[in-house]
Amino acid sequence: MEGIIIKGIGGFYYVRCDDGNTLETRGCGRFRKEKITPLVGDRVLLDESLGSVVEILPRTCEFIRPPVSNITQMIVVFSTVSPKVDLRLVDTMLLYIEEKGIKGAVCINKSDLDDHENIEKIKNIYESAGYETIVTSAEKGEGGEALSKLLKDNISAFAGNSGVGKSSLLNLIDGSFSLETGNVSEKIQRGKHTTRHVELLPLSFGGYVLDTPGFGKIDLPIIEAKYLEDYFKEFEPYKEGCKFTGCSHLKEKGCAVREAVENKEISLSRYESYVEFFEKLKAIKPWERKEK
Ligand code: GDP
Ligand code: ZN
Repeated sequence: MEGIIIKGIGGFYYVRCDDGNTLETRGCGRFRKEKITPLVGDRVLLDESLGSVVEILPRTCEFIRPPVSNITQMIVVFSTVSPKVDLRLVDTMLLYIEEKGIKGAVCINKSDLDDHENIEKIKNIYESAGYETIVTSAEKGEGGEALSKLLKDNISAFAGNSGVGKSSLLNLIDGSFSLETGNVSEKIQRGKHTTRHVELLPLSFGGYVLDTPGFGKIDLPIIEAKYLEDYFKEFEPYKEGCKFTGCSHLKEKGCAVREAVENKEISLSRYESYVEFFEKLKAIKPWERKEK
């Protein structure tokens, strides 16, 4: 029988089988010998008579923190106010997602706290960068349908700082989730008494969503500066037009990307992130680069 690991606690793996049932299983002895660790998200083959996972099917992607595999989509969540969004950080997260080769999307939450015009302005930055962008208010119960549609049939994870409303959004789309919400200090207080584990929550309409605040802090991925342009999808239609091959789109004459920024076809904020990331990546010496 085949299924997906949705939770792992104390040596047990909870596998949701394709028939909808969840079984409590153990890893087989061979895994321990070969130092193979099943991850939440793994598609596995089960031996039902032994009650164990006998094979892990090839992973499409893999994360260490949080330990999870096969995520198909990451949704960057932020609020335009309280906490105020840091667009550079949003772009760092999107770069991380692009580098992992998974689909990225954007969710602007707490729309009840800001005026429509400002939200539209920021929404436009990410839409024109090629990301599906939804606006929600978990507080007012708005945008739940758009979020459900985005999540459907994907294995999704939320990325975003603590306090932006990730848990509240999960509760909004499925009342049975009842995830703890609250301000940061309340959560830290409670966190002392409860151990958090990684868990995939099955969605009634198809797909899974990761129940974890684990994708809070994301660092700039270490890539070669010259390849950075490949991860800014909105540059794509313009790159061909640059006068010099290998144009870095910084100061070269006849740069079509910069021209597009001037014509407001590429957002200035995204371009400024590109420049900042390029300079940071350029400053990393080859021998400082971690093996991937
Ligand atoms: P998380 O840390 O990202 O999971 O954020 P939480 O879901 O715990 O929410 C943090 C705080 O923001 C809580 O006090 C929520 O009640 C509040 N909150 C979440 N969504 C909204 C929203 O859409 N509007 C407003 N005004 N507050 C919200
Ligand atoms: Zn250029």
